[in-house]
Amino acid sequence: MSEIVKGRSIKGVTRPSKEYGEGRVCAKPGCNTKLSRYNRREYCHAHAPVRYPRVRGRVIPEGT
Ligand SMILES: [Zn+2]
Repeated sequence: MSEIVKGRSIKGVTRPSKEYGEGRVCAKPGCNTKLSRYNRREYCHAHAPVRYPRVRGRVIPEGT
């Protein structure tokens, strides 16, 4: 028996694009800004929580 098992190509894998629902709006109360369904955030640009703003050079000591 000389059956050669060909390696299966994984090329054709289609990844479904993530969608988070249509017609969602900003989670901020009172804000009706529509969110893109490809936007995984809950808030619009104006209300998106800012994380770790850049602090240059200055470190605020804790527990003095
Ligand atoms: Zn908003």
